[in-house]
Amino acid sequence: MKDKLSSFGTTIFTVMSALAQKHNAINVSQGFPDFNCDNQLIELCHKYFSSNFHQYAPMPGIIELRETVSKIIQICYNKKTNPETEITITAGATQGIYTAISAFINKGDEVILFEPAYDCYAPAILVNGGIPTYCKLNSSDFSINWNEVASKISPKTKMIIINSPHNPTGTVINKNDVENLILLTRNTDIIILSDEVYEHIIFDGLTHESVLRYEELFQKSIMISSFGKTIHTTGWKIGYVAAPEHLMKVFRKVHQFLIFAVNHPLQRVIAEYLQNKENYLGIKVFYQQKRDYFVNLIKGSAFEIMPSQGTYFVLLKYNRISMLKDTDFTIELTEKYKLATIPLSAFYHNNEDNKLIRICFAKKDETLLKASQIINLLN
Ligand code: PMP
Ligand code: GLN
Repeated sequence: MKDKLSSFGTTIFTVMSALAQKHNAINVSQGFPDFNCDNQLIELCHKYFSSNFHQYAPMPGIIELRETVSKIIQICYNKKTNPETEITITAGATQGIYTAISAFINKGDEVILFEPAYDCYAPAILVNGGIPTYCKLNSSDFSINWNEVASKISPKTKMIIINSPHNPTGTVINKNDVENLILLTRNTDIIILSDEVYEHIIFDGLTHESVLRYEELFQKSIMISSFGKTIHTTGWKIGYVAAPEHLMKVFRKVHQFLIFAVNHPLQRVIAEYLQNKENYLGIKVFYQQKRDYFVNLIKGSAFEIMPSQGTYFVLLKYNRISMLKDTDFTIELTEKYKLATIPLSAFYHNNEDNKLIRICFAKKDETLLKASQIINLLN
């Protein structure tokens, strides 16, 4: 038997969360909130699960939710989308990403991605016979080196995957990045896969530069989002994809055979909940407070804190504390100090070690306080 992903093991998120459990450690590794979602969501679950919405939803998602998404896109990005033809509801962003890659990537196609990269891109490319072409984000501030991108574009380049706000670094792309992307892909057939799952989690008054804001870019883009991040329900695994009709048609051909349709009652719940703008617009203030609370607690520690402009992650550099490899350091932190984090090397195909760990601050203040007490002990 030939294993298509022979060089991959179990994902780092599963590994570290399991290790946290085994050692009874505080878990700031895998990205998920340790607090409950809004009670109103639970009430809506009661409402819709006790009504008769237990059969298949329409293949692209219920129209009420697609219309809601379309309205959010209009409010946030001033972009009109057609909910009938340009929005599809997915079983989380992971399914959206996999579906997009398998719909468009053929054997031998090259896909440019930026490292450190979220872990599901490269396997999806490889399973479909594509070739991941890695560009490294600048080591000082994790910005994109557009000269490198230009040098890696070839006639075989079929797709560029961008991710902003960026997991794991917490950086965001700016207008200059967008201009570079537009110029480099103008008059090409390159498709942009834009992972924007943290679209509503951006700090310090920065603007989320969605591909949906730029018509030329939108026409060649597949935008991916996830309600899991926005409404604190990562376990529901529901997201959406926005793309122009000509790309969405191709996307849906695969979507219908990969999953066909997504959990029906939960789509109803989300559609009603997101009628209230505050339920998605308020999240940036909520998480900025968490970031500031946590960063303030550890600012006197021996760790160097990297700036986090978005997402619910912050990177910490530990080279003043230990010279262990980041994987060994995170194991030691979990086993000995009872704090589970993620080693950054997991986001590089060659497991590059920069003595950085990722912390998830989507946690109760008491969890963040306990985590900070451990962090402040280390020197
Ligand atoms: N992309 C990024 C950058 C993520 O951080 C995550 C998950 N946390 C996903 C995609 C997958 O999202 P989902 O859980 O909705 O599949
Ligand atoms: N996206 C989450 C993270 O970065 C984890 C999702 C998962 O476990 N697959 O931690």
